[in-house]
Amino acid sequence: MPQSDALPSPDLLDLRAELPAEERTRLERIEEHLQTVVRPAVIEPWTRDEFVPDLLPGLGALGLGTIFTDGSSALFQGLVHAAIARVDLSLSALVGIHNELIVGTIAHLGSKEQKAAWLPKLQALEAIGAFCLTEPEHGSDIAGGLATTAERTEQGWTIRGSKRWIGAGTLAQIALVWARDTADDQIKCFLVPTDTPGYKATKIEHKTGLKIMQNADIVFEDVEVGQDALLPGATSFAQANDLLLASRAWVGWQGVGAQQAVFDILRSYALQREQFGKKLAGFQIIQQHIAEIAGNLMASAGMMRQIARLAEAGDLVMMHAASAKATSTRLARSSASLGRDALGGNGIVADYEMTKVMNDIEAIYSYEGTYAINSLIVARALTGVSAFR
Ligand SMILES: Cc1cc2nc3c(=O)[nH]c(=O)nc-3n(C[C@H](O)[C@H](O)[C@H](O)COP(=O)(O)OP(=O)(O)OC[C@H]3O[C@@H](n4cnc5c(N)ncnc54)[C@H](O)[C@@H]3O)c2cc1C
Repeated sequence: MPQSDALPSPDLLDLRAELPAEERTRLERIEEHLQTVVRPAVIEPWTRDEFVPDLLPGLGALGLGTIFTDGSSALFQGLVHAAIARVDLSLSALVGIHNELIVGTIAHLGSKEQKAAWLPKLQALEAIGAFCLTEPEHGSDIAGGLATTAERTEQGWTIRGSKRWIGAGTLAQIALVWARDTADDQIKCFLVPTDTPGYKATKIEHKTGLKIMQNADIVFEDVEVGQDALLPGATSFAQANDLLLASRAWVGWQGVGAQQAVFDILRSYALQREQFGKKLAGFQIIQQHIAEIAGNLMASAGMMRQIARLAEAGDLVMMHAASAKATSTRLARSSASLGRDALGGNGIVADYEMTKVMNDIEAIYSYEGTYAINSLIVARALTGVSAFR
């Protein structure tokens, strides 16, 4: 914990103290770059819904394309996800999806050839991927409802259907597409280069949250790929579910980072802004806001620390991950609302960052399973009774 006269860092439980020295140094190097280079560079693009391609090489150089596969501890991975979320939830979404759902899927379920062709470029962040699961008519009920089809042909497969909300769908070099095999009705995953004829991605305009992340509607019009496009390890929805276990835990860390941002922004604002001749930080109600945000943040961080322990031990199950995701994003939403109130009118001006964080949190509250769906998953595990199919 920072000492005496220094104010505490937003790592209020000092989780980094548990990292081996080498990982702690690496985390601090990453945080330094994120705070000094990335944080000031994302505010304007956020207001214009623009992606920030120029920031990717810097993230790649820091190894942010490899954290899932380079043997880092689960706690280090979590603290890195939080550090990125603390400066920008869109970039955190990109890096999280990239590591957990793109690199992770290919590394665990891909063929030797798929790994050799794509992992080096992906890990250097020289290429990015799109994870294509959700559809226009099937969000929460995707497992049962998935309608995109893959039909066996003499040469390979023909993919037909549409997807919605796909992160980086207009920017990615490859898409991992979940489609239903018309022969056996199983949901399988296909690696589709995005320059394949018939792949049509359109940016979703006018989002009010996660505005830097480019989400797309994608249509697959008779997209023909070879037999080698099928990921040999991804031959049923159970494999997608295994990936969602890790990615739900990652979103829990996003909730931690987002609350660190709320805490950072509010504390520095309250120590500068004066009303009635004194700093906002000296008003009791503002102090209560700060204390409540700190409590939410520590509750989320402490829970995520234990989630990392369970992951390291191989004991993490969906009930844990779903609860962590739901709880951390619920608390983040509550913290952002307090933070936004405490900035007064400036709480709705993007230059002051709070409204950026608050709006971005709305997206993480709904993706990777909405709050309701994750709650139903938890309660099903706890009661043995399913409220949905
Ligand atoms: C910014 C963003 C990025 C995303 N990125 C990706 C991506 O890269 N790849 C991808 O595949 N998907 C992505 N998604 C999709 C995301 O996973 C879905 O939005 C999510 O699963 C919810 O689906 P939906 O939006 O269709 O909501 P719906 O399923 O239509 O839900 C609407 C409301 O109904 C509630 N509801 C639904 N069913 C039930 C029930 N049985 N009981 C109680 N309440 C219920 C929900 O909780 C919600 O409140 C992204 C979404 C967002 C917003």
